[in-house]
Amino acid sequence: MPQYDMMLLDPEDAEGADIIRHEAGKPAREGGGDETYRCGGCKTKLLVNVAHHDAHGVVVKCGKCGRLNIEPHHHR
Ligand SMILES: [Zn+2]
Repeated sequence: MPQYDMMLLDPEDAEGADIIRHEAGKPAREGGGDETYRCGGCKTKLLVNVAHHDAHGVVVKCGKCGRLNIEPHHHR
């Protein structure tokens, strides 16, 4: 199953985005597919075994390092 490192996002770039709050110790979302996404800063797994459309365009705030991450294929 593919595993990706997410891209770090500046807070001002996340304005207006739907931010998922991850809590350290468990994935913010899990299940429904086979793609795993890790924090671009600390490599914590944020989205585990999700479908691509569940990760596309979402912003995840890492519960461990506090940085904002966006799915790496979603280029602005
Ligand atoms: Zn992190």
